Amino acid sequence: MGRLVMKFGGTSVADIERIRNVARHVKREVDAGHEVAVVVSAMAGATNRLVEWCREASVLHDAREYDTVVASGEQVTSGLLAIALQAIGVNARSWQGWQLPIKTSDAHASARILDINGEELIKRFKERKEVAVVAGFQGIYPETARVTTLGRGGSDTSAVAVAAAIRADRCDIYTDVDGVYTTDPRVVPRARRLDKIAFEEMLEMASLGAKVMQVRSIELAMVHQVRVFVRSSFDKPEDIDPHVSPPGSLICDEAEIMEQQVVTGIAFSKDEAQISIRRVQDKPGVAAAIFGPLAEANINVDMIVQVVSADGATTDMTFTVPAAEYERARSTIDQARDKIGYDKLDSATDVAKISVIGIGMRSHAGVAARAFRALADRGINIRAITTSEIKFSLLIDAAYTELAVRTLHSLYGLDKQG
Ligand code: ADP
Ligand code: ASP
Ligand code: MG
Repeated sequence: MGRLVMKFGGTSVADIERIRNVARHVKREVDAGHEVAVVVSAMAGATNRLVEWCREASVLHDAREYDTVVASGEQVTSGLLAIALQAIGVNARSWQGWQLPIKTSDAHASARILDINGEELIKRFKERKEVAVVAGFQGIYPETARVTTLGRGGSDTSAVAVAAAIRADRCDIYTDVDGVYTTDPRVVPRARRLDKIAFEEMLEMASLGAKVMQVRSIELAMVHQVRVFVRSSFDKPEDIDPHVSPPGSLICDEAEIMEQQVVTGIAFSKDEAQISIRRVQDKPGVAAAIFGPLAEANINVDMIVQVVSADGATTDMTFTVPAAEYERARSTIDQARDKIGYDKLDSATDVAKISVIGIGMRSHAGVAARAFRALADRGINIRAITTSEIKFSLLIDAAYTELAVRTLHSLYGLDKQG
Protein backbone atom coordinates (compact mmCIF):
# COMPACT_ATOMS: atom_id res chain seq x y z
CA MET A 1 0.00 0.00 0.00
CA GLY A 2 1.18 3.48 -0.77
CA ARG A 3 0.12 7.06 -0.64
CA LEU A 4 -0.32 8.93 -3.92
CA VAL A 5 -1.12 12.33 -5.31
CA MET A 6 -2.80 12.17 -8.73
CA LYS A 7 -2.97 15.49 -10.60
CA PHE A 8 -5.20 15.97 -13.65
CA GLY A 9 -4.72 18.94 -16.00
CA GLY A 10 -7.31 20.93 -17.93
CA THR A 11 -7.72 18.68 -20.96
CA SER A 12 -8.11 15.66 -18.67
CA VAL A 13 -11.15 17.23 -16.96
CA ALA A 14 -12.46 19.12 -20.02
CA ASP A 15 -16.00 17.68 -19.82
CA ILE A 16 -18.14 15.35 -17.74
CA GLU A 17 -17.16 12.29 -19.77
CA ARG A 18 -13.47 12.95 -19.11
CA ILE A 19 -14.16 13.62 -15.44
CA ARG A 20 -15.79 10.18 -15.30
CA ASN A 21 -12.67 8.75 -16.89
CA VAL A 22 -10.55 10.48 -14.23
CA ALA A 23 -12.81 9.02 -11.52
CA ARG A 24 -12.14 5.54 -12.89
CA HIS A 25 -8.38 6.20 -12.80
CA VAL A 26 -8.70 7.22 -9.17
CA LYS A 27 -10.83 4.17 -8.35
CA ARG A 28 -8.17 1.96 -9.95
CA GLU A 29 -5.57 3.25 -7.46
CA VAL A 30 -7.98 3.10 -4.52
CA ASP A 31 -8.86 -0.51 -5.42
CA ALA A 32 -5.14 -1.29 -5.50
CA GLY A 33 -5.09 -0.27 -1.84
CA HIS A 34 -3.57 3.22 -2.09
CA GLU A 35 -4.46 6.33 -0.13
CA VAL A 36 -5.15 9.01 -2.70
CA ALA A 37 -5.29 12.80 -2.84
CA VAL A 38 -6.32 14.14 -6.24
CA VAL A 39 -5.46 17.64 -7.46
CA VAL A 40 -7.49 19.04 -10.36
CA SER A 41 -7.13 21.93 -12.79
CA ALA A 42 -10.03 23.87 -14.26
CA MET A 43 -11.65 22.54 -17.43
CA ALA A 44 -9.51 23.27 -20.52
CA GLY A 45 -10.13 26.85 -21.66
CA ALA A 46 -11.99 27.81 -18.47
CA THR A 47 -9.13 29.78 -16.90
CA ASN A 48 -8.43 31.63 -20.17
CA ARG A 49 -12.09 32.65 -20.31
CA LEU A 50 -12.05 33.87 -16.71
CA VAL A 51 -8.84 35.85 -17.30
CA GLU A 52 -10.42 37.40 -20.40
CA TRP A 53 -13.53 38.39 -18.47
CA CYS A 54 -11.39 40.26 -15.94
CA ARG A 55 -9.68 42.15 -18.77
CA GLU A 56 -13.02 42.94 -20.39
CA ALA A 57 -14.38 44.28 -17.13
CA SER A 58 -11.35 46.52 -16.77
CA VAL A 59 -7.90 46.35 -18.35
CA LEU A 60 -6.36 47.49 -15.08
CA HIS A 61 -7.94 45.43 -12.31
CA ASP A 62 -7.40 44.62 -8.67
CA ALA A 63 -5.29 41.44 -8.42
CA ARG A 64 -7.29 40.28 -5.38
CA GLU A 65 -10.49 40.31 -7.42
CA TYR A 66 -8.72 38.68 -10.37
CA ASP A 67 -7.87 35.81 -8.00
CA THR A 68 -11.48 35.62 -6.80
CA VAL A 69 -12.57 35.15 -10.40
CA VAL A 70 -9.89 32.84 -11.80
CA ALA A 71 -9.82 30.48 -8.79
CA SER A 72 -13.41 29.51 -9.55
CA GLY A 73 -12.54 27.14 -12.39
CA GLU A 74 -10.93 24.66 -10.00
CA GLN A 75 -13.82 24.92 -7.55
CA VAL A 76 -16.11 23.55 -10.27
CA THR A 77 -13.93 20.59 -11.26
CA SER A 78 -13.09 19.56 -7.69
CA GLY A 79 -16.79 19.36 -6.84
CA LEU A 80 -17.63 17.54 -10.07
CA LEU A 81 -14.89 14.95 -9.56
CA ALA A 82 -16.05 14.31 -5.97
CA ILE A 83 -19.57 13.73 -7.33
CA ALA A 84 -18.28 11.42 -10.08
CA LEU A 85 -16.24 9.43 -7.52
CA GLN A 86 -19.17 9.07 -5.14
CA ALA A 87 -21.30 7.89 -8.07
CA ILE A 88 -18.98 4.90 -8.59
CA GLY A 89 -18.84 4.06 -4.92
CA VAL A 90 -15.62 5.85 -3.92
CA ASN A 91 -15.82 7.88 -0.73
CA ALA A 92 -14.58 11.36 -1.71
CA ARG A 93 -14.62 14.94 -0.47
CA SER A 94 -13.58 18.15 -2.26
CA TRP A 95 -11.27 20.76 -0.69
CA GLN A 96 -10.81 24.37 -1.74
CA GLY A 97 -7.50 26.07 -1.00
CA TRP A 98 -8.99 28.00 1.93
CA GLN A 99 -10.48 24.89 3.48
CA LEU A 100 -7.33 22.80 3.87
CA PRO A 101 -5.89 25.49 4.13
CA ILE A 102 -3.17 25.99 1.52
CA LYS A 103 -1.47 29.06 2.97
CA THR A 104 0.31 31.30 0.49
CA SER A 105 2.09 34.64 0.26
CA ASP A 106 0.05 37.71 -0.63
CA ALA A 107 1.48 38.01 -4.16
CA HIS A 108 -1.93 37.81 -5.79
CA ALA A 109 -1.95 36.11 -9.22
CA SER A 110 1.49 34.60 -8.57
CA ALA A 111 1.40 33.59 -4.91
CA ARG A 112 3.86 31.11 -3.41
CA ILE A 113 2.72 28.26 -1.23
CA LEU A 114 4.08 28.68 2.31
CA ASP A 115 2.42 25.87 4.21
CA ILE A 116 -0.13 23.09 3.88
CA ASN A 117 -1.40 21.07 6.79
CA GLY A 118 -1.86 17.53 5.51
CA GLU A 119 -2.86 15.95 8.82
CA GLU A 120 -6.62 16.22 8.30
CA LEU A 121 -6.34 14.45 4.93
CA ILE A 122 -4.19 11.69 6.43
CA LYS A 123 -6.68 11.25 9.27
CA ARG A 124 -9.49 10.84 6.77
CA PHE A 125 -7.48 8.32 4.72
CA LYS A 126 -7.17 6.22 7.86
CA GLU A 127 -10.57 6.69 9.45
CA ARG A 128 -12.91 6.94 6.48
CA LYS A 129 -10.95 5.65 3.49
CA GLU A 130 -11.78 9.01 1.97
CA VAL A 131 -10.22 10.33 -1.23
CA ALA A 132 -9.37 14.04 -1.04
CA VAL A 133 -10.11 16.06 -4.17
CA VAL A 134 -8.12 19.28 -3.88
CA ALA A 135 -8.77 22.31 -6.10
CA GLY A 136 -5.42 23.13 -7.73
CA PHE A 137 -4.01 26.59 -8.49
CA GLN A 138 -5.51 28.31 -5.42
CA GLY A 139 -4.73 29.08 -1.82
CA ILE A 140 -5.39 31.66 0.84
CA TYR A 141 -3.39 34.53 2.30
CA PRO A 142 -4.15 34.00 6.00
CA GLU A 143 -3.75 37.60 7.19
CA THR A 144 -6.50 38.93 4.96
CA ALA A 145 -8.30 35.59 4.48
CA ARG A 146 -8.43 36.31 0.75
CA VAL A 147 -8.22 33.73 -2.03
CA THR A 148 -4.93 33.69 -3.96
CA THR A 149 -3.79 31.92 -7.13
CA LEU A 150 -0.38 30.51 -7.99
CA GLY A 151 0.19 31.74 -11.55
CA ARG A 152 -0.71 29.96 -14.79
CA GLY A 153 -0.08 26.24 -14.71
CA GLY A 154 -0.11 26.41 -10.90
CA SER A 155 -1.98 23.17 -10.30
CA ASP A 156 1.29 21.30 -10.83
CA THR A 157 2.68 23.22 -7.87
CA SER A 158 -0.42 22.50 -5.77
CA ALA A 159 0.05 18.80 -6.52
CA VAL A 160 3.71 18.66 -5.49
CA ALA A 161 3.02 20.74 -2.38
CA VAL A 162 0.16 18.45 -1.34
CA ALA A 163 2.42 15.44 -1.99
CA ALA A 164 5.05 16.90 0.34
CA ALA A 165 2.44 17.77 2.97
CA ILE A 166 0.91 14.27 3.12
CA ARG A 167 4.31 12.61 2.66
CA ALA A 168 3.17 10.84 -0.51
CA ASP A 169 5.30 8.14 -2.08
CA ARG A 170 4.81 9.67 -5.51
CA CYS A 171 3.12 12.54 -7.31
CA ASP A 172 1.60 11.42 -10.62
CA ILE A 173 0.96 14.20 -13.13
CA TYR A 174 -1.67 13.01 -15.61
CA THR A 175 -1.73 15.18 -18.72
CA ASP A 176 -2.40 15.16 -22.46
CA VAL A 177 1.04 13.75 -23.34
CA ASP A 178 2.49 10.53 -22.00
CA GLY A 179 5.58 12.08 -20.47
CA VAL A 180 8.28 14.68 -20.79
CA TYR A 181 9.76 14.73 -24.27
CA THR A 182 13.11 15.92 -25.64
CA THR A 183 11.15 18.93 -26.91
CA ASP A 184 7.48 19.84 -27.37
CA PRO A 185 6.09 16.84 -29.30
CA ARG A 186 3.45 19.08 -30.88
CA VAL A 187 6.19 21.00 -32.67
CA VAL A 188 8.68 18.22 -33.34
CA PRO A 189 6.95 14.93 -34.14
CA ARG A 190 10.32 13.16 -33.86
CA ALA A 191 10.68 14.18 -30.20
CA ARG A 192 11.41 11.24 -27.91
CA ARG A 193 9.93 10.53 -24.50
CA LEU A 194 12.47 10.63 -21.69
CA ASP A 195 12.18 7.76 -19.21
CA LYS A 196 13.92 9.86 -16.58
CA ILE A 197 14.88 13.49 -16.34
CA ALA A 198 16.83 15.14 -13.52
CA PHE A 199 15.20 17.85 -11.41
CA GLU A 200 17.80 20.41 -12.53
CA GLU A 201 17.17 19.69 -16.20
CA MET A 202 13.39 19.80 -15.82
CA LEU A 203 13.74 23.07 -13.95
CA GLU A 204 15.67 24.57 -16.88
CA MET A 205 13.29 23.05 -19.47
CA ALA A 206 10.28 24.49 -17.65
CA SER A 207 11.73 27.92 -17.02
CA LEU A 208 12.93 28.18 -20.62
CA GLY A 209 9.55 27.47 -22.15
CA ALA A 210 8.43 23.80 -21.82
CA LYS A 211 5.06 24.32 -20.22
CA VAL A 212 4.51 20.66 -19.35
CA MET A 213 5.31 21.45 -15.69
CA GLN A 214 5.14 24.77 -13.83
CA VAL A 215 8.65 25.90 -12.80
CA ARG A 216 7.78 26.34 -9.14
CA SER A 217 6.49 22.75 -8.92
CA ILE A 218 9.93 21.43 -9.82
CA GLU A 219 11.62 23.69 -7.28
CA LEU A 220 9.33 22.30 -4.60
CA ALA A 221 9.86 18.72 -5.76
CA MET A 222 13.62 19.22 -5.53
CA VAL A 223 13.51 20.72 -2.06
CA HIS A 224 11.10 18.14 -0.64
CA GLN A 225 12.47 15.23 -2.70
CA VAL A 226 9.07 14.40 -4.21
CA ARG A 227 9.25 11.86 -7.02
CA VAL A 228 7.17 13.20 -9.89
CA PHE A 229 5.89 10.90 -12.63
CA VAL A 230 4.37 12.46 -15.78
CA ARG A 231 1.93 10.21 -17.66
CA SER A 232 -1.13 10.27 -19.91
CA SER A 233 -4.68 10.56 -18.63
CA PHE A 234 -6.08 9.34 -21.94
CA ASP A 235 -5.30 5.67 -21.36
CA LYS A 236 -8.44 3.74 -20.51
CA PRO A 237 -8.23 2.87 -16.80
CA GLU A 238 -9.59 -0.61 -17.60
CA ASP A 239 -6.70 -1.31 -20.01
CA ILE A 240 -3.97 -0.58 -17.50
CA ASP A 241 -2.17 -3.64 -16.18
CA PRO A 242 -1.24 -2.86 -12.57
CA HIS A 243 1.76 -5.20 -12.84
CA VAL A 244 3.35 -3.40 -15.79
CA SER A 245 4.91 0.02 -15.28
CA PRO A 246 3.07 2.54 -17.47
CA PRO A 247 4.70 4.74 -20.09
CA GLY A 248 5.76 8.06 -18.62
CA SER A 249 8.69 10.11 -17.36
CA LEU A 250 10.11 10.13 -13.88
CA ILE A 251 11.50 13.47 -12.70
CA CYS A 252 14.07 12.53 -10.11
CA ASP A 253 17.48 13.03 -8.63
CA GLU A 254 20.41 13.17 -11.02
CA ALA A 255 22.00 10.23 -9.21
CA GLU A 256 19.15 7.93 -10.29
CA ILE A 257 19.93 8.42 -13.97
CA MET A 258 22.44 5.94 -15.27
CA GLU A 259 22.93 6.92 -18.88
CA GLN A 260 23.44 10.63 -19.05
CA GLN A 261 23.30 12.25 -22.51
CA VAL A 262 25.22 15.45 -23.18
CA VAL A 263 22.02 17.15 -24.34
CA THR A 264 18.72 16.09 -22.77
CA GLY A 265 16.24 18.47 -24.31
CA ILE A 266 15.43 21.66 -26.17
CA ALA A 267 13.00 24.32 -24.99
CA PHE A 268 11.81 27.44 -26.75
CA SER A 269 9.84 30.53 -25.96
CA LYS A 270 8.33 33.25 -28.10
CA ASP A 271 7.44 35.36 -25.09
CA GLU A 272 10.57 37.49 -25.40
CA ALA A 273 11.25 41.00 -26.61
CA GLN A 274 14.61 42.49 -27.50
CA ILE A 275 15.65 46.05 -26.73
CA SER A 276 18.86 47.56 -28.06
CA ILE A 277 20.19 50.85 -26.79
CA ARG A 278 22.41 52.42 -29.43
CA ARG A 279 25.50 54.52 -28.84
CA VAL A 280 25.45 54.48 -25.07
CA GLN A 281 28.40 56.26 -23.49
CA ASP A 282 31.02 53.64 -22.67
CA LYS A 283 31.90 54.63 -19.12
CA PRO A 284 31.67 53.14 -15.62
CA GLY A 285 28.16 53.05 -14.21
CA VAL A 286 26.31 52.84 -17.50
CA ALA A 287 25.04 49.27 -16.92
CA ALA A 288 23.81 50.33 -13.50
CA ALA A 289 22.04 53.34 -15.04
CA ILE A 290 20.20 51.03 -17.47
CA PHE A 291 19.44 47.97 -15.35
CA GLY A 292 18.86 49.76 -12.04
CA PRO A 293 15.59 51.40 -13.12
CA LEU A 294 14.44 48.15 -14.79
CA ALA A 295 15.04 46.23 -11.56
CA GLU A 296 13.18 48.89 -9.57
CA ALA A 297 10.26 48.54 -11.98
CA ASN A 298 10.34 44.79 -11.27
CA ILE A 299 11.15 43.92 -14.87
CA ASN A 300 13.07 40.71 -15.35
CA VAL A 301 16.00 41.16 -17.70
CA ASP A 302 17.26 37.96 -19.24
CA MET A 303 19.94 37.99 -21.95
CA ILE A 304 22.40 40.89 -21.97
CA VAL A 305 24.91 41.63 -24.72
CA GLN A 306 27.26 44.57 -24.64
CA VAL A 307 29.28 45.33 -27.73
CA VAL A 308 32.86 46.40 -27.09
CA SER A 309 33.19 49.80 -28.67
CA ALA A 310 35.83 50.42 -31.28
CA ASP A 311 36.30 54.07 -30.39
CA GLY A 312 36.10 53.61 -26.63
CA ALA A 313 33.47 56.34 -26.48
CA THR A 314 30.14 54.67 -27.16
CA THR A 315 28.76 51.14 -27.17
CA ASP A 316 25.53 49.22 -27.91
CA MET A 317 23.67 47.39 -25.16
CA THR A 318 21.14 44.70 -26.09
CA PHE A 319 18.94 42.79 -23.66
CA THR A 320 15.69 40.84 -23.54
CA VAL A 321 12.63 41.17 -21.32
CA PRO A 322 9.40 39.13 -21.19
CA ALA A 323 7.11 40.21 -24.05
CA ALA A 324 4.44 41.17 -21.52
CA GLU A 325 6.85 43.70 -19.98
CA TYR A 326 8.09 45.15 -23.25
CA GLU A 327 6.10 48.42 -23.23
CA ARG A 328 6.94 49.08 -19.62
CA ALA A 329 10.63 48.36 -20.20
CA ARG A 330 10.77 50.79 -23.12
CA SER A 331 9.15 53.58 -21.20
CA THR A 332 11.37 52.92 -18.16
CA ILE A 333 14.47 53.35 -20.36
CA ASP A 334 12.93 56.40 -22.05
CA GLN A 335 12.40 58.02 -18.69
CA ALA A 336 16.02 57.36 -17.68
CA ARG A 337 17.39 58.69 -20.97
CA ASP A 338 19.11 61.72 -19.48
CA LYS A 339 20.90 59.64 -16.89
CA ILE A 340 21.92 56.89 -19.31
CA GLY A 341 22.78 59.10 -22.28
CA TYR A 342 22.20 57.25 -25.56
CA ASP A 343 21.45 57.88 -29.20
CA LYS A 344 18.34 55.77 -29.85
CA LEU A 345 16.35 52.69 -28.87
CA ASP A 346 15.74 49.79 -31.27
CA SER A 347 13.52 46.89 -30.40
CA ALA A 348 11.99 43.70 -31.74
CA THR A 349 9.13 41.63 -30.42
CA ASP A 350 9.17 38.94 -33.13
CA VAL A 351 12.06 37.08 -31.54
CA ALA A 352 12.33 33.63 -29.96
CA LYS A 353 14.68 32.10 -27.44
CA ILE A 354 15.86 28.56 -28.17
CA SER A 355 17.55 26.76 -25.27
CA VAL A 356 19.57 23.57 -25.24
CA ILE A 357 19.69 21.77 -21.89
CA GLY A 358 21.74 18.91 -20.49
CA ILE A 359 23.64 18.08 -17.33
CA GLY A 360 26.27 16.45 -19.54
CA MET A 361 27.34 19.92 -20.71
CA ARG A 362 29.17 20.32 -17.41
CA SER A 363 31.82 17.93 -18.63
CA HIS A 364 31.73 18.49 -22.41
CA ALA A 365 33.21 21.44 -24.24
CA GLY A 366 32.15 22.79 -27.61
CA VAL A 367 28.49 21.80 -27.39
CA ALA A 368 27.23 25.30 -28.18
CA ALA A 369 29.74 25.86 -30.95
CA ARG A 370 28.17 23.03 -32.94
CA ALA A 371 24.79 24.77 -32.72
CA PHE A 372 26.19 28.05 -34.05
CA ARG A 373 27.53 26.26 -37.14
CA ALA A 374 24.34 24.27 -37.74
CA LEU A 375 22.14 27.38 -37.53
CA ALA A 376 24.49 29.36 -39.75
CA ASP A 377 24.25 26.60 -42.36
CA ARG A 378 20.47 27.13 -42.33
CA GLY A 379 20.89 30.90 -42.71
CA ILE A 380 19.57 31.58 -39.21
CA ASN A 381 21.06 34.67 -37.59
CA ILE A 382 21.79 34.62 -33.86
CA ARG A 383 20.95 37.92 -32.14
CA ALA A 384 22.16 37.10 -28.63
CA ILE A 385 23.65 34.19 -26.68
CA THR A 386 23.76 33.26 -23.01
CA THR A 387 25.32 30.22 -21.43
CA SER A 388 25.38 28.61 -18.03
CA GLU A 389 26.64 25.34 -16.61
CA ILE A 390 23.92 23.06 -17.99
CA LYS A 391 22.31 25.10 -20.76
CA PHE A 392 22.78 27.73 -23.45
CA SER A 393 20.17 29.96 -25.05
CA LEU A 394 20.08 31.64 -28.44
CA LEU A 395 17.88 34.53 -29.49
CA ILE A 396 16.72 34.35 -33.11
CA ASP A 397 13.94 35.68 -35.36
CA ALA A 398 10.66 34.08 -34.31
CA ALA A 399 9.91 33.00 -37.89
CA TYR A 400 12.75 30.45 -37.64
CA THR A 401 11.74 28.92 -34.32
CA GLU A 402 10.55 25.59 -35.62
CA LEU A 403 13.37 25.20 -38.12
CA ALA A 404 15.94 25.99 -35.42
CA VAL A 405 14.41 23.60 -32.87
CA ARG A 406 14.27 20.77 -35.42
CA THR A 407 17.81 21.44 -36.62
CA LEU A 408 19.24 21.33 -33.09
CA HIS A 409 17.09 18.35 -32.17
CA SER A 410 18.68 16.33 -34.99
CA LEU A 411 22.13 17.78 -34.42
CA TYR A 412 22.27 16.49 -30.83
CA GLY A 413 20.93 13.06 -31.77
CA LEU A 414 17.59 13.48 -30.04
CA ASP A 415 15.36 12.38 -32.96
CA LYS A 416 13.30 9.27 -32.47
CA GLN A 417 14.53 6.47 -34.72
CA GLY A 418 12.27 5.06 -37.44
P1 ADP B 1 -2.17 20.25 -18.39
O1 ADP B 1 -3.40 20.98 -18.81
O2 ADP B 1 -2.37 18.78 -18.22
O3 ADP B 1 -1.47 20.89 -17.23
P2 ADP B 1 -0.31 21.55 -20.20
O4 ADP B 1 -0.95 22.02 -21.47
O5 ADP B 1 -0.05 22.56 -19.14
O6 ADP B 1 -1.18 20.34 -19.64
O7 ADP B 1 1.09 20.83 -20.51
C1 ADP B 1 1.13 19.77 -21.44
C2 ADP B 1 1.64 20.30 -22.78
O8 ADP B 1 2.98 20.72 -22.65
C3 ADP B 1 1.69 19.26 -23.89
O9 ADP B 1 0.47 19.16 -24.56
C4 ADP B 1 2.82 19.76 -24.79
O10 ADP B 1 2.35 20.39 -25.95
C5 ADP B 1 3.54 20.80 -23.96
N1 ADP B 1 4.99 20.57 -23.89
C6 ADP B 1 5.93 21.53 -24.09
N2 ADP B 1 7.14 21.02 -23.99
C7 ADP B 1 7.00 19.71 -23.70
C8 ADP B 1 7.93 18.65 -23.47
N3 ADP B 1 9.26 18.84 -23.52
N4 ADP B 1 7.43 17.41 -23.19
C9 ADP B 1 6.11 17.21 -23.13
N5 ADP B 1 5.18 18.18 -23.34
C10 ADP B 1 5.62 19.42 -23.63
N1 ASP C 1 -6.20 26.36 -14.45
C1 ASP C 1 -4.95 27.03 -14.22
C2 ASP C 1 -4.33 27.50 -15.53
O1 ASP C 1 -4.84 27.27 -16.59
C3 ASP C 1 -3.98 26.18 -13.44
C4 ASP C 1 -3.55 24.90 -14.13
O2 ASP C 1 -4.21 24.41 -15.05
O3 ASP C 1 -2.53 24.34 -13.72
O4 ASP C 1 -3.32 28.13 -15.49
MG1 MG D 1 -0.24 22.63 -17.05
